Amino acid sequence: MIGNRYCPKCGKELNPSAEICNSCKTKLFQSSHSGQVSIKYGIVALILGIVGIIIVSTFLLQLIVVVVATMIGGIGLSRDSDKTLATIGILLGIGGLISFVVTTGFLGLYPVM
Ligand SMILES: [Zn+2]
Repeated sequence: MIGNRYCPKCGKELNPSAEICNSCKTKLFQSSHSGQVSIKYGIVALILGIVGIIIVSTFLLQLIVVVVATMIGGIGLSRDSDKTLATIGILLGIGGLISFVVTTGFLGLYPVM
């Protein structure tokens, strides 16, 4: 048998799979929500990816941001329970990398300094 659980509010014994206390209707948080922490990788990758697109033409800073966004997105893909944000972060990171290469490539062809 799984160890008995008790409502943190009213102290009544709970059904092991209960999400709401039958007695006082308090919402209970299952310990199985482990994806809640790891999903942050995807969010960070997404934000960095967006930043990488916004700060285009800041060169080295953009390169660092988009590389980090792609790396964190990769971590998110393996650890996040929801891989959507991590995937978008990686795509934005790759897009930022391409825009970096294109921008620096153009500067090489047409030096402005
Ligand atoms: Zn209760």
